[in-house]
Amino acid sequence: MKLFDLHCDTLSQMLQTSQDLAENNLHVSLKRASRYDTYTQIFAVWSNQQMSDDENYTRFFEIINYAASELKRTPDFIPYLAVEGGKLLNGDLLRLDVLHKTGVRFLTLVWSDTCCIGGAHNTDNGLSSFGRDVVKRCFDLNIIPDLSHASDRSFYEAYEIALLNDKPVIASHSNSRTVCHHRRNLTDDMFRLIVDIGGITGISLCRPHLTKSENCGIDSVVAHIEHYMSLGGEKTICLGCDLDGIDKPPYEINGIEDLYKIGTELQRLNYPNDLIENLFSANAEDFMKKNNIIPELNI
Ligand SMILES: [Zn+2]
Repeated sequence: MKLFDLHCDTLSQMLQTSQDLAENNLHVSLKRASRYDTYTQIFAVWSNQQMSDDENYTRFFEIINYAASELKRTPDFIPYLAVEGGKLLNGDLLRLDVLHKTGVRFLTLVWSDTCCIGGAHNTDNGLSSFGRDVVKRCFDLNIIPDLSHASDRSFYEAYEIALLNDKPVIASHSNSRTVCHHRRNLTDDMFRLIVDIGGITGISLCRPHLTKSENCGIDSVVAHIEHYMSLGGEKTICLGCDLDGIDKPPYEINGIEDLYKIGTELQRLNYPNDLIENLFSANAEDFMKKNNIIPELNI
């Protein structure tokens, strides 16, 4: 089984706990991912809401430098890079070009509250005029805007710019709001729009986004997969587990080594193998190929 995951916060955790990627006590390590035939990952560098925009920009390079020094030990593994929370741009569009040169290929526009780009899921605000320029510049640079964490208004406004530019958007880690009512989750309309525009959506393992119940296991994950499938999402759904960004995954999952259990459960429910393969790797691989997204790390 191949694995391609759209979202984890492991790089920040590595720096914070002075650990490497090869082996560590986090949710994600290359050693534990080695149970899969191939392993591909989008690593996000998160903008901390407690830090200023400029501090986050400086912190981004600290995290990347640390990761780059650790990744020297595994030269064959090139991560896809993302920034989670565009506040680090602090109104300076040129910073986006610098991030792109460093290797950033995905930008989660907002994370929480309202930043220079616009409003996140816990607000009713849309994109600022700078935010609109950022989305347009992303398309010039071939950075994919990631609408996870966006407010509903920011989602629709960014989507409209994508349509005008004939470019896709993704939601790297967003579950279904119909299955679990949470503002971080996507409405059916939003999910269908991502399907229509050729984007991808990752299923997250964040418990509060999976179920309101205390009892959160793999069946809660499957409920979101099934619902997205019912909306025509067989070429859209991926995994975007948010490992190392969440406290506790569902109870049968300790880390990346256990994600295969989601596939085992889908097999038990008689899902065809090609559908499970789409979810675990093929949809994400196809998206990267179609949009010419190539991982790079230039430090
Ligand atoms: Zn997130």
